[in-house]
Amino acid sequence: MVEAPYLGMEHQSAIAYGNEFKQGYLGTMVPKEFDFDYIILHETAHEYFGNSVSCTDLGDMWIHESFATYMEALYIEFYYGKEASQRYLNSQLGFIKNIEPIFGPYGVNYEAKTSDQYYKGSWMLHSLRNTIENDTVWFTILREFYNKFKISHANRDDFIDIVNEYTKSDYTAFIHQYLRWEVPPEMEYKSEFKDNATFLSFRWNCYERAFSMPIEFSLDGKKVKMQSNTEWKTVQFPKKYKEIKPIVENRYFKVKKNN
Ligand SMILES: [Zn+2]
Repeated sequence: MVEAPYLGMEHQSAIAYGNEFKQGYLGTMVPKEFDFDYIILHETAHEYFGNSVSCTDLGDMWIHESFATYMEALYIEFYYGKEASQRYLNSQLGFIKNIEPIFGPYGVNYEAKTSDQYYKGSWMLHSLRNTIENDTVWFTILREFYNKFKISHANRDDFIDIVNEYTKSDYTAFIHQYLRWEVPPEMEYKSEFKDNATFLSFRWNCYERAFSMPIEFSLDGKKVKMQSNTEWKTVQFPKKYKEIKPIVENRYFKVKKNN
């Protein structure tokens, strides 16, 4: 690591450092409760994803930035705990723009206009982890992706193949909805009370027709978890609820209430 007159860069063989030994990103961007130096953490993460596992083409620059940004959250989870890590991730939500896909075109030295490959990409990984719901499998995926492609190159399909192999499931549509399209999945729902029952209808509004992800609803504070895909599904509950809403916690998506 070499002190430099600019903020920082993950140059292979010598990370440039210019954060003036301040908290966060020159004293900003990162919530004050986290006293670490963002540049040291982020650029060091690039020694794994970026400088060792390098993207085959700049259209997959997210492999550097999404993983390095998610590794910040994993560092916090390790040293400060899971709740602190969730607060850190929540602080990134405001930076997500959803105006361009994270997957860029190949062969054109692609450069993204937004920082979605950092924050939204990090949230895609967090959403994927919380959909897989098995940290043994999740960390095996991260390690295997690293070990298979270290000191080498990887592209989007290499990562998807590893995820599908270790989950024994097909997460292609899931990853594509977050990275191939500009908009994240949207939970669309409506509810109706008739014949002494509540009818709750919901679906994932997505470009990827094969997308699926579980959804949790709060029914007057009571949590109910259900599987959901892009087809409307109606579930019946034998009572009336004052407030019905999807729980948005550890997965990233938009919400749309009909009626
Ligand atoms: Zn970076």
